Amino acid sequence: MTETKTPEVASSNFIETEINADIAKNVYTDNRVHTRFPPEPNGYLHIGHAKSICLNFGLGEKYQGKTNLRFDDTNPTKEDVEYVESIEEDVHWLGFHWDGEVRFASDYFPQMYEYAVQLIREGKAYVDDLSGDEIREYRGDFNTPGKESPYRNRPIEENLRLFEEMKEGRYADGEKVLRAKIDMASPNLVMRDPVLYRILHVPHHRTGDTWCIYPMYDFAHPVSDAIERITHSVCTLEFEAHRPLYNWVLESWSDPEHPRQIEFARLNVTTMITSKRKLRRLVEEHIVSGWDDPRMPTISGIRRRGYTPEALRDFCDRIGVAKNDSLVDISLLEFCIREDLKNKAPRLMTVLDPLKITLVNYPEGQTEELPIANNQDAPDMGERMVPFSRELYIERADFMEEPVKKFFRLAPGREVRLRNAYIIRCEEVVKDENGEIIELKCTYDPDSKSGSPGSNRKVKGVVHWVERHTAVPVEARLYDYLFPEDDTDDGRDFVEKANPDSLVVKQAVAEPAILDYPVGTRFQFIRQGYFVIDPDTTEEHLVVNRIVGLRDTWAKLQKQKEKEKQAK
Ligand code: ATP
Ligand code: MG
Repeated sequence: MTETKTPEVASSNFIETEINADIAKNVYTDNRVHTRFPPEPNGYLHIGHAKSICLNFGLGEKYQGKTNLRFDDTNPTKEDVEYVESIEEDVHWLGFHWDGEVRFASDYFPQMYEYAVQLIREGKAYVDDLSGDEIREYRGDFNTPGKESPYRNRPIEENLRLFEEMKEGRYADGEKVLRAKIDMASPNLVMRDPVLYRILHVPHHRTGDTWCIYPMYDFAHPVSDAIERITHSVCTLEFEAHRPLYNWVLESWSDPEHPRQIEFARLNVTTMITSKRKLRRLVEEHIVSGWDDPRMPTISGIRRRGYTPEALRDFCDRIGVAKNDSLVDISLLEFCIREDLKNKAPRLMTVLDPLKITLVNYPEGQTEELPIANNQDAPDMGERMVPFSRELYIERADFMEEPVKKFFRLAPGREVRLRNAYIIRCEEVVKDENGEIIELKCTYDPDSKSGSPGSNRKVKGVVHWVERHTAVPVEARLYDYLFPEDDTDDGRDFVEKANPDSLVVKQAVAEPAILDYPVGTRFQFIRQGYFVIDPDTTEEHLVVNRIVGLRDTWAKLQKQKEKEKQAK
C-alpha cells in the first residue's frame, strides 16, 4: 500500500460518498481529488453559482485536494472581460483560493483542435455540410430515430482536409460543422452525432482572430477537464443526459485517469431569479440600478446588500447537496446573516421616521452622556457614550394620538421608557396648520435613569431615540423582495412581476457614533434590523442599506412545519 495524504472524510452528501468510493478503489493516483468551478464569463454570478463554488472549493478543501477556476470561454459572442473580473472577485470574496493561475478553456483551443483531428483519424468524427435546420430535422425526436447525414461516411482524408479548411477560414458561418460519429438511433438525443465544432467568424476576447472555428461546450468541457487532470467534474442536473457524451469524448484521451462527471440539483431560492439571461434584462431595462443592486441575487448584489461571506457559506452548507431540484426559502438565508451578525455587529440607535420630542422639564442647554453597551450579547465590544438632551427624536410609529388596543408605546398622558435613558410622559401634541403632528412635548422622570436605583420602575413600552443636535442625517434604503415569494407562472413576462415598492428610501437620523465607522460596516439598528454603510456614502451624505429585518421568519416556518408533521 502506498501512503496517501487524502484524508478519510465522513461523507455528508452523495457526492462525497462517490468520492470516498473512488478513494476506496484507488481510482486516482495518490487518491487525489481535483475539482473545478467552470463559469461562463457571460454575466455576473448569482446565488446558485455561490452554491456551486462552495461545493467545488469545499470538496477541494475537505479532501486536501485542489480546485481550479476555469472560464468556459468557448462562445465568443457573449463574453466580456468585465465578467471575468467580477467572477474572480466573487470567488475571492467568498474566501476561496483556486489552484495556480486562473485558467481559460480558450487557452486549450490548440489542444482541442489536435484532439478533434485525432478523433477524425480514428473515424469518430466527420465534417457535415448539412445546415443547422437540417441537422435538427435529421436528429429526430424521442419517438423518431434520427436519419444519418449523407456526409456521414466521408473518407477520413477528406474530413481531415475539410476540417483544416474550416480552421483556415475557407467557409462561412454555418456552412460546415464537425460532428461526432456516434449513433443516430440512440434513445439519448444528445448522442445522435452531436456537433463538436462550429464556424464563427467572430473575434474572441482572448484569442482575437486566431480562430474562426470554436468547440461546442460538450466537447470543450470534458477535454478541458481532462487537460487539467480534474478528477470529479461536478455540475448541475441538466447535464445528466450529457454524461454519456462526456465519457464518449474522453474514450480516446491518452491519460487513463479520466475525470468523472457527477450531477447535483440546481439551487433555487424563493423571491430570487437565477437565470443570467433574466438578470441581464433587469439590468438592461433599469428595473434595478445595476448588477450589484442590493436587491439582485447576484453575489455582488448580495455583497452590497451587506451579507457576509460567512453567512452565504453557512447558507450553502445548511441547504446541503440535493439530487432533485429544490426550492429553498429565502428566510433561511436571512436567518444565516442574523446568526452571523448577532454577536459581531455593533448595535446603534437610529430613527428611520423621526418625530421631534421636547422634554419640557429637562434643563435647556444641558447634555449628558449615557454609557450604552455596543452589543449587549457581546460584552467584549465595550460601550460608547450616547448624548442625551432636552430635544430628541423618536420613531413616528412609536406614538399614537388615539392608541389602539395593545399599543403600549407613547400616547397622550402615557409613559414610555427611552431605551437606556429615562421614562418620559407625553404631555402635549403639537401640530402644524395641516393637522400633522410635528412635535411632542413631554416630561421626563429624573429618578428613572437606567442603571440608577429609581430605574426599577417599570413601564410597558421601551422605545429607541436619537439626541437632536448631534443627530447624523442618514439616507436609509429599505429593500423588499424583488419578486413574489410564491411565484407561480401566470403567463406574464417576469419583468412585469417585479415589485415596484422593492426600494423605499427614508431620511433617517442616527446617533453620532455612526460616524466612527467606515463604509462596509454592518450594524444592528435597534428594533429596525441589520444595516450596512453603502459605498454611495460621501463626506456629506451617509447612505445605509437594510440587509434584513429582525424578525426570524425561518424559525417560524420550522415551527409551523413541525406542527404540521405532528398533526399528520
Ligand atoms: P445560466 O443558465 O443562468 O446562464 P449557467 O448555469 O449557464 O447559468 P455557468 O456560468 O455555466 O452558468 O455556471 C457555472 C457553474 O455554476 C456550472 O457548473 C453550473 O452548473 C453552476 N450553476 C449555475 N447555476 C446554478 C444553480 N442555480 N445552482 C447550482 N449551481 C449552479
Ligand atoms: Mg452554462
